[in-house]
Amino acid sequence: MAAALHLQTHPCFHGTYQLSPPPRPSVSFPSSSRSFPSNRRSLSAHVKAAAASSSTTTLQEGIAEFYDESSGIWEDIWGDHMHHGYYDPGSDVSGSDHRAAQIRMIEESLRFAGISEDPANRPKRIVDVGCGIGGSSRYLARKYGAKCQGITLSPVQAGRANALANAQGLADQVCFEVADALNQPFPDEQFDLVWSMESGEHMPDKPKFVKELVRVAAPGGTIIVVTWCHRDLGPSEESLQPWEQKLLNRICDAYYLPEWCSTSDYVKLFQSLSLQDIKAGDWTENVAPFWPAVIRSALTWKGFTSLLRSGLKTIKGALVMPLMIEGFQKGVIKFAIIACRKPAE
Ligand code: SAH
Repeated sequence: MAAALHLQTHPCFHGTYQLSPPPRPSVSFPSSSRSFPSNRRSLSAHVKAAAASSSTTTLQEGIAEFYDESSGIWEDIWGDHMHHGYYDPGSDVSGSDHRAAQIRMIEESLRFAGISEDPANRPKRIVDVGCGIGGSSRYLARKYGAKCQGITLSPVQAGRANALANAQGLADQVCFEVADALNQPFPDEQFDLVWSMESGEHMPDKPKFVKELVRVAAPGGTIIVVTWCHRDLGPSEESLQPWEQKLLNRICDAYYLPEWCSTSDYVKLFQSLSLQDIKAGDWTENVAPFWPAVIRSALTWKGFTSLLRSGLKTIKGALVMPLMIEGFQKGVIKFAIIACRKPAE
């Protein structure tokens, strides 16, 4: 694919980007996806423990390879949004349109954060942190007529996201590259909307992650983080119960996740950076139908044969899907949204 190999200048980007999958980033991570120290109340204790624990590149490489391998099959069966759908609690979803529910997840997140629909105030520059194959970016770029830049660790995802943007006539509005959310390739204060849809759970250093989100937000800009958290700990609890931690560890191992934190840990981090209008929501009930639907799709002939062809990491991911359901049902896993605003200067 000669056309995919040359560098192009891109109007919405700082310099150039590659249509072909660029080389893997050389960044390193302070913790490993393979080590799971028990949860402590203090996030800094978490981070120290994580930093002390072993191999720095394992997690990043695992994430990149996992998404390199599994994004094609996901797109084939579910389309370009690699995140949960949003449903009315208790609704009958047997015949639900799950793709519509994924769009609703985006819309509800924008609504929760109070993003203006008014053309004068709506976001014009957006960053999609952990962009997958760019479903959110293209949707937001169209909705707001905004420019959107996405970053992912997966070269395959970045290449596919750019190809879809080109095919949909959005190449002058959106673009994607391989980069680390913990060291974003953007100057300070660039974006009116900082969007992280189900990528925070992959971040081994939550304080640094939040700091980077805040750094790239423009004054007055909004930050939206939709992410998997563990439940908040009770006042007398130092950590999750051993059985809870064991359940999360099995999920971490299959999905390349480091240690989890709670929704209130995120709130504290944003508070510590003096963010305003901090709001957190628990949407666990709203996403309940999602994993059963994914499991059903994996059990169709198309799903099953694609899965077998996709590779070991994807199969391993599929095998732990019931544990996500168990985690939600037992109250260990929370599907959280946290939104806030950077003070205007
Ligand atoms: N937000 C997308 C994709 C969610 S999947 C969507 O809703 O469709 C999680 C994404 O987070 C993947 O694209 C993965 O590459 C990305 N990710 C995980 N850790 C990352 C990191 N440190 N830096 C950048 N992207 C990361």
